[in-house]
Amino acid sequence: MAGHPPWELEFVMSAARFDQLPATTAEIAFAGRSNVGKSSLINALANRKQLARVSKTPGRTQHLNLFRLRDGRTIMDLPGYGYAKAAASVRKAWGPMIEGYLLNREGLKAVVVLVDGEIGPTRLDVAMFAWLTAGGVPHRIVATKQDKVKSSVRQKRKVDLAEKCGVDPKDVLWVSAAKHVNIELLRSRCYEWLGAS
Ligand code: GDP
Repeated sequence: MAGHPPWELEFVMSAARFDQLPATTAEIAFAGRSNVGKSSLINALANRKQLARVSKTPGRTQHLNLFRLRDGRTIMDLPGYGYAKAAASVRKAWGPMIEGYLLNREGLKAVVVLVDGEIGPTRLDVAMFAWLTAGGVPHRIVATKQDKVKSSVRQKRKVDLAEKCGVDPKDVLWVSAAKHVNIELLRSRCYEWLGAS
């Protein structure tokens, strides 16, 4: 039996600024560059095929998309970074919006940074870790698309990835939304990161 409450997520709202968000007792935020597999992973965690699609609807891709667990604690889907197609004005607004959220959101317990396990951390990912570390924002690393990496190279890839991100390999969790690898483990980790209720 799972050692945590069910992972039922409901969409709460999209906000353009962190100060429009309702208060929360505890929240974790998912971040990563566009296409890293964030929506697929949130859908897999919630066991709902289309849930995170809301974050991809026009006008919402650059918003803070908030979801709530049954116990009232919350999950933030942060806009993907490095979205080349976004207008310059949008890209310019992204930094201050995310920064405002990350530095001011009360109840934020951890940022889960997704790194593409197939291609490894990008320059932007590394900049994100450095920034989170400097800002004293607790963060965790999850490597996506495990199924795309041959099993014979997975361990080495994990070690490389951890090194580039400046963490211990045991602190990197491999997941695959497509093949449902470590999804249940990530659910319990998320509850741990949210803290005791
Ligand atoms: P987002 O932009 O970060 O929300 O990324 P998406 O969830 O939309 O995924 C981007 C692309 O990667 C899509 O084509 C997905 O089908 C694919 N993808 C996402 N997760 C996985 C995975 O675990 N394995 C594989 N093979 N492909 C994945």
